[in-house]
Amino acid sequence: AKAQGGAGYRFYTPDMNTRAMERLLLQNQLHQALELGQFQVHYQPQMDLRSGRICGVEALVRWQHPERGLVPPAEFIPMAEDTGLIEPLGEWVLRTAAREVRGWQDRGLPALNLSVNLSPRQFRHPDLPGMVERVLAESGLEAERLELEITERLIIVDLEHTVDTLSRIARLGVRVSIDDFGTGHSSLAYLKRLPVHALKIDREFVDGIGQDSDDAAIAEAVIALGRTLRLQVIAEGVETREQASFLREHGCDAVQGFFIARPMPAGELTGWLS
Ligand code: C2E
Ligand code: CA
Ligand code: CA
Ligand code: CA
Repeated sequence: AKAQGGAGYRFYTPDMNTRAMERLLLQNQLHQALELGQFQVHYQPQMDLRSGRICGVEALVRWQHPERGLVPPAEFIPMAEDTGLIEPLGEWVLRTAAREVRGWQDRGLPALNLSVNLSPRQFRHPDLPGMVERVLAESGLEAERLELEITERLIIVDLEHTVDTLSRIARLGVRVSIDDFGTGHSSLAYLKRLPVHALKIDREFVDGIGQDSDDAAIAEAVIALGRTLRLQVIAEGVETREQASFLREHGCDAVQGFFIARPMPAGELTGWLS
């Protein structure tokens, strides 16, 4: 057992080092990825439940790594957030998506709303409203077409700053939605005070519709809350017809999920739309 323990130790240490080094390598590569043009924006359609029409898209960033292939955001967004890269990267995503969505409209496709995720660090940046204003001016995308998604976690960190930033964004005519709603701990009192326009029911609750009565009850409660506060409610992670029907019957405004379509590159989306 002792010998094995020794061998185990010898294998254990290099493994730890390898992982730390891999992380460091990835971090360095991430930093260059923006200049090297390795990021892409994919778009996931959102469907209005009353009209059945595609009303918008959510922009989701992808990293086309030369050796690893498509790296999902869960693997590099936290890293980008830690290192600060999220600021130029987030701006790049917003600029690229605004330009592309506006471009489809110019080419005769029905006008779409665009949702873009904002990380906590981007939200804390004092010039965020200025940056958004410049991107709108450059791209020609109408402010009313843009929706920025923030999470509940970010709201409670500094309520005063949150209210101030959200008000400045609202004055531009840009809408704000609360992403992953129900998973954080934003109190209803905050929600009433904040200039936000929409709630996104988290996938976690949508998942259980048709299987888990608690999840269905939570989804229903969020829809009811949204209606009371006159907020738009959109459900994400909708994978089945049953979930979509349930949500429509309970007054949800829009859905997004694999049931409608997966996120896809711009070229594919314009084909899918026409
Ligand atoms: P999110 O904002 O909650 O985005 C929705 C995620 O759910 C996306 O994962 C999407 O591909 C996935 N999804 C959509 N429909 C379904 C479905 O029906 N079933 C399942 N199982 N999944 C579905 P993705 O693209 O991997 O993004 C993960 C997270 O990374 C996002 O979660 C968001 O928090 C973050 N992210 C992505 N792009 C950006 C970005 O440009 N900036 C920032 N700050 N964060 C981003
Ligand atoms: Ca989102
Ligand atoms: Ca979400
Ligand atoms: Ca559940």
